[in-house]
Amino acid sequence: MSWLIQPRLVNSPFDDPGLYIDFRYGHRALLFDLGDLAPLSSRELMRISHVFVSHTHIDHFAGFDRLLRVCLHRPGPLHLIGPPGFIDRVDHKLQGFTWNLVNEHSIDFQLHVAEFDEPRLTRAAVFSARHVFRREGVAVADLPDGVVLAEDDFRIEAVALDHGIPCLAFGFRETTRVNVRSDALRELGLPSGQWLNEAKAMVRAGVEDAGIDIPEIGKVDFRTIKDRLFFVGPGQSLAYVTDTAISLQNERKILFLARNADHLFIEAVFAERDRALAEEAHHLTAHEAGRLAHEAHVARLTVFHHSARYLTEGDALRTEAMQAFQSA
Ligand SMILES: [Zn+2]
Ligand SMILES: [Zn+2]
Repeated sequence: MSWLIQPRLVNSPFDDPGLYIDFRYGHRALLFDLGDLAPLSSRELMRISHVFVSHTHIDHFAGFDRLLRVCLHRPGPLHLIGPPGFIDRVDHKLQGFTWNLVNEHSIDFQLHVAEFDEPRLTRAAVFSARHVFRREGVAVADLPDGVVLAEDDFRIEAVALDHGIPCLAFGFRETTRVNVRSDALRELGLPSGQWLNEAKAMVRAGVEDAGIDIPEIGKVDFRTIKDRLFFVGPGQSLAYVTDTAISLQNERKILFLARNADHLFIEAVFAERDRALAEEAHHLTAHEAGRLAHEAHVARLTVFHHSARYLTEGDALRTEAMQAFQSA
């Protein structure tokens, strides 16, 4: 079955956290966290429509400048979602530069920034190049609790974890996966093309009793082709969890966010033998990361955000996490 998105860590597990989510179609990407973005090409950065920032510790936010610099030359909005206080942080970043060369004739690039104060988006602002990046308040998107982005194909869920400060964790949930059976397409003598996307949207919306216009064929009763032509399955899901203290409240939220996910990306900063350090720094141990993955019943686990103190131990943290993940 074909996938909707392809996720990958931006950096090695010992470097800055960050997850790049590439869409299979549509020249689009999402980004979780804004640390060092050096491994991403300008072309990959230009594809990003939304960035979800867990918190603004420097290893999660220092890449803002590079992303801004690349996207300045692209018309349209770049969406940023972060924790309470995030709009001020973005404003301060923007005010750190001189903008005498942008004006109302500049490329119409805008930053749309929103804050998630669990359980909802509570504030939003726009900074546009044509208005010299002056902050302008705008209405907040009306979304259900725990959701920071909802589109036809997927939604992004968020929870606020305790990391000494609020730190957001995010989940990607494809709504329903609808695939075309190419053999059935041939047998029915139907052309491929844009009409299939409209038809997939109709399947997702549960439309039964309607006609659909097919190029070269004409209007067809949707019911006569729907079941033969489409395969409907559970959507793809993943979760991104970083910078979180070991606590029961955090655990409950992580287990909800990552429930039955296809892939969990989660921090493993310290070894279990250094649990006291993890507690002091409000981070997880590798063992805790693996245990959470096990309890959330995820299919696949990737750990990252390793402390440099384990650099000489190779993938010891990954091994510790995997042991806890695979234990019954
Ligand atoms: Zn961090
Ligand atoms: Zn942090």
